[in-house]
Amino acid sequence: MTQILDGNRTRDQIKEECIPRAQAVYKHARRPPGLAVILVGTNPASQVYVRNKTKTAGEIGIYNETLSPDPSITTEDLLRLIRILNIRNEIDGILVQLPLPDHIDAQKILLAVAPEKDVDGFHPYNMGLLATGRPGLRPCTPAGVIEILKRNHIPIAGRNAVVIGRSTIVGKPMALLLLEENATVTVCHSKTADLPGVCRTADILVAAIGRPAMVTADFIRPGAVVVDVGINAITERARAEQIFGPGNMAAFEKRGSQLVGDVHPGDMARLASAYTPVPGGVGPLTIAMLMRNTIEAAERRTGLC
Ligand code: NAD
Repeated sequence: MTQILDGNRTRDQIKEECIPRAQAVYKHARRPPGLAVILVGTNPASQVYVRNKTKTAGEIGIYNETLSPDPSITTEDLLRLIRILNIRNEIDGILVQLPLPDHIDAQKILLAVAPEKDVDGFHPYNMGLLATGRPGLRPCTPAGVIEILKRNHIPIAGRNAVVIGRSTIVGKPMALLLLEENATVTVCHSKTADLPGVCRTADILVAAIGRPAMVTADFIRPGAVVVDVGINAITERARAEQIFGPGNMAAFEKRGSQLVGDVHPGDMARLASAYTPVPGGVGPLTIAMLMRNTIEAAERRTGLC
């Protein structure tokens, strides 16, 4: 029987586990773990993400504040803001919501975050810890993928894992985390020759591309575990009909758009032995792992671990 890997359930488990750890930080340090979120600009998706992050932090007992400087803020002024957060003792985690406006040098900003407070795990220092197999703050989305696989008893060691995508946020750290779990890992990207053929060698196939339903039946070995990281909104009726079928348009009709991953949902459900649905698969895990990283940062900074 096909196993649907339920991201909401895994998220709830991780959140539950965070609550006593946040309480332990409070007891030990006489303050809760603290998270600062920087949101520049009015990107509606970013606003929703930030609201969800701060709401979840509140539910767990993490002190949080959102800083929304004027969208015209310069790179230098934003750097100053980060330096202040770096030295504020009650702040354990600093998250800069991406994307930043074009006039801001995002690389400079991300480099300025103190590595021990880099709860997104994007700082080159933390990436270096991951690449060299040392403990540290791991990027949230790929770390969430490992969690959902492990909690659903999907073996990773010794299996062939293929990751499509090599971004710093998902693809590369995903490959390193799978390697850390002793998978045999192949990383594919836009220049990979015979992409479907390489993907068919996968026992575990992870798609992090950003192209709606690009991964179709010819990419999936029957029985493979498929993890779909992609989140794409389909707004064209004809395209939605092509992906979901004319008989499955109720969700699209209701909202005028529908979310789809990078993997064709019908092909994935038909061929995979286990898969993460979109929505409700990998998506919910990112925030949960951000909370866990914030607590881990607080535990290290307060000397609890
Ligand atoms: P990105 O654009 O930074 O990277 C995409 C990668 O896909 C690149 O490495 C590129 O080489 C590869 N690629 C592009 N076209 C390809 C093709 N035709 N064939 C093979 N490879 C190709 O994107 P990203 O930030 O890594 O995000 C990927 C997807 O994951 C997006 O849909 C994004 O929305 C989603 N995402 C989800 C979460 C979550 O919380 N679930 C978090 C981050 C990203």
